[in-house]
Amino acid sequence: MTRVLVVEDDPQLARALVINLQARHYGVDAAPDGATALRLTAVRPPDAVLLDLGLPDMDGVDVIKGLQGWTRAPVLVLSARQSSGEKVSALDAGADDYITKPFSMDELLARLRAAVRRAADLPPVPETTPVETDDFTVDLLAKKVVRGGRDVRLTPTEWNLLEILVTHPGRLVTQKHLLQEVWGLSRSSRTNYLRVYMAQLRRKLEKDPSHPRYLITEPGMGYRFEA
Ligand code: CA
Repeated sequence: MTRVLVVEDDPQLARALVINLQARHYGVDAAPDGATALRLTAVRPPDAVLLDLGLPDMDGVDVIKGLQGWTRAPVLVLSARQSSGEKVSALDAGADDYITKPFSMDELLARLRAAVRRAADLPPVPETTPVETDDFTVDLLAKKVVRGGRDVRLTPTEWNLLEILVTHPGRLVTQKHLLQEVWGLSRSSRTNYLRVYMAQLRRKLEKDPSHPRYLITEPGMGYRFEA
């Protein structure tokens, strides 16, 4: 049974999440604050965490960092705020995905399934030759990126995106394909996710993220990796 930890202080929303998840045969624990979430994670490690960023006792980013001491389960952030700065710090801290409130339960469940699937995925057939650029190296076998002699820490979502792009060098990869592969979304209306995660990747890999040399946007169509 896939176990989900719901961390949400709004009792109505927490209850709706618990009921919907249980109806789909997930095992569910619920925590109304960060301290309870960390305690529950230690005693009963979840397979995925749904985390509200606005909790009464702790900053959401600190909860993400605390969770990492106990579990490698994917963290899906639920954020009521529109602030992209908050999302970026959650992603930097290691969140795997974010969903802006209000969201549809169907979409949340699809994203949760995709996150759990990604976490359980066996590594793809390994490419033995690392992908080299002038600024960084992507080792697909070791799932490692090295830049300037240092490991670059990528979240699973960032890694997924990068892996798809670098294994199709010089080719346009469509938004639709990426949304489907990385988030399990069949409709291509959520291109804002792509923009946020591509910006993250560029910040980590590009010398000048606002003028990318390797991770190229094809406006309205998709993205292309140029070695
Ligand atoms: Ca809240």
